[in-house]
Amino acid sequence: MEVSRRRFLSIGPMGVLGGSALGFDLTESIAIKQRLRIEGATLSRSLCPYCAVGCALIAYTKKAPNGRTELLQIEGDPDSPVNEGTLCPKGATSLQLAVSGRRVPHPLYRAPGAAEWTQVSWEFTLDRLARNIKDSRDATFVTQDAEGNVVNRCEGIAFAGGAAFSSEEGYLATKLMRGLGLVHLEQQARV
Ligand code: SF4
Repeated sequence: MEVSRRRFLSIGPMGVLGGSALGFDLTESIAIKQRLRIEGATLSRSLCPYCAVGCALIAYTKKAPNGRTELLQIEGDPDSPVNEGTLCPKGATSLQLAVSGRRVPHPLYRAPGAAEWTQVSWEFTLDRLARNIKDSRDATFVTQDAEGNVVNRCEGIAFAGGAAFSSEEGYLATKLMRGLGLVHLEQQARV
C-alpha cells in the first residue's frame, strides 16, 4: 500500500495499519469518523506554544448547543514549511493544554515545612508573590559594583518566561522585570 506523507498524516498510522496488519482496510471508516468529528467545524491556524521550533497547528472548533465554543481537535499543519504536518509528542497532545480535566484551575500553596498543598485564593497568591518579590529585591539590590560604578540592579531574583507567551506578553514581562532591576532574564521559547 503506497501512502504519501500527506495521506499518512490525514488518515493516521492506524489507517495505514488497518490495510496491512489486520487483513482488512479501515482507512475509509477512519477517514469518515475523522470527518464526522470535525464536520462543520471552524478551522483556525495557530502555533504550538511549547518551544522555539514554532510548529504550525490547525485547530478545529465548533459552537456547542449551549453557545460555548468547543475545541474539537488540534493537528499539525501539513502546509507549514516548519513542521510539514508533524508534531512532537508534546505538540501532538496540545489539545490537553486546553481541555484536560486534570488541569488545576486554582492556585495551590505549600507553606514552609508543610508536606501538603492547600488550595488558596488568587488574592492570597498575588499578595504572597508581591511580598516575596519585594523582600528578595530589598535584600539583594545592588547600587554599585566592585569598581564603584552605579548599576542599580537586583541580583537575587531570576525570571524565566513561558514558551506560551505571546510577543506582547514577553514584551510586558521584560519591561516589568527590567523595571524591578532584574538582570537574569530567560525565555523558554528561546531554548
Ligand atoms: S513542542 Fe514539539 S510540536 Fe511544539 S513547537 Fe516544539 S517541536 Fe514543535
